[in-house]
Amino acid sequence: MKLETLAVHAGDRKKLGDYVPVTTPIYGASSYVYDRTEDLDRVFADEKQGQTYARYGSPTTNALEEQVAALEGAEFAQASASGMASLHLALLAALTDRRRSIVAANVLFGQSFSLLMKVLEPTGVSVRFADPCDIAAFEAVVAEEKPACVLVETVSNPLLRVPPLDKVVEIARKHNALTVVDATFTTPILLRPMALGADFVVHSSTKYLAGHGDVLGGLLATRTEFRQVVQTLSRTLGNTMAPFEAYLTMRGVKTLALRLERQCQNACRVASALKDHPRVERVHFPGDPLHPDADAIRRLFPKNLFGGMVSFTIKDAGREQVFRFNDALRLVVRATSLGDVHTLISYPVIASHRELAPKHRERLGIGENLLRLSVGIEAAEDIIADLEQALDQC
Ligand SMILES: *Cc1c(COP(=O)(O)O)cnc(C)c1O
Repeated sequence: MKLETLAVHAGDRKKLGDYVPVTTPIYGASSYVYDRTEDLDRVFADEKQGQTYARYGSPTTNALEEQVAALEGAEFAQASASGMASLHLALLAALTDRRRSIVAANVLFGQSFSLLMKVLEPTGVSVRFADPCDIAAFEAVVAEEKPACVLVETVSNPLLRVPPLDKVVEIARKHNALTVVDATFTTPILLRPMALGADFVVHSSTKYLAGHGDVLGGLLATRTEFRQVVQTLSRTLGNTMAPFEAYLTMRGVKTLALRLERQCQNACRVASALKDHPRVERVHFPGDPLHPDADAIRRLFPKNLFGGMVSFTIKDAGREQVFRFNDALRLVVRATSLGDVHTLISYPVIASHRELAPKHRERLGIGENLLRLSVGIEAAEDIIADLEQALDQC
């Protein structure tokens, strides 16, 4: 079945008795009772399917997990309280019984970088960074380090580079490393990393999967072989997604394909309007035929879908002009997040990349005049008109 179909059906309509709710309800219970203690014993022993205690999951989170696993073409998925919690689980699972070493992309979501440097490294995990868009250099580091896993994002933030994920997976396998992919920016609609041979796929479902700016969450999809270790870690760390959050996320996922298609179309139109504006210096957009990773994009993404993210620089603008531009926006929402139904704008030097030294930011190509848009599902004309009137004022 196609993803659009799976998104609206997978996980739902479990029989409760002689009736079936069309959508999975919110099960808020913290624990579950059985007629026979023997059954509870068997569920605890993982010999029988069932529920025991909310930290272990609920029918609502299980339904979401089934839905997302279906979309990712994965055998198993685990929902967590946030994208960071899911990434933490994935890395701990990938390190279990293996060399305590990770090779990560040199550009990562800010907190992912902190997770590596402030949480994992102090516990004795060796962490090295390499640029996955320079695949030869990336392989050299993997060959030398022989890590337990590599960690990459499908699209980098905020410059929207697209590493050749097929080649990254190939290199990881060749050197006996697992691949952990943060696919938050692409969603299964643009890219399914498991089909390329990745071992763990992580989403901040706060973003596109839930999509309405109203719920924090994370999903981890993987193979059966890692089910036990992921479940044990999740149950022990207690970062389980709560049932209400699972309910909202599942509801969001049902319209993911529709939303993302519209977001992709709108992003193409916004990118092209920005390119034509005299105040705009440069537009970063995966749909640009001159994008530095055009080959990988052509191989990995479906035709005419390039994601809903667009970054751009304003000509000769410093902080003051960027603040003026931002404050002049009337429709576009100035908030840190992405993937929502409404268009969002973020200013990386004061938000996601605030902690980096200006010199380091400069080296990464993140200047004071760079802005990042997450294009929503509004009418493209309205988004463009708002950006243009704000650009005219700065
Ligand atoms: C937001 C984000 C995260 C973290 O997700 P939370 O749900 O905020 O914990 C991780 N990776 C990427 C690429 C993100 O955009």
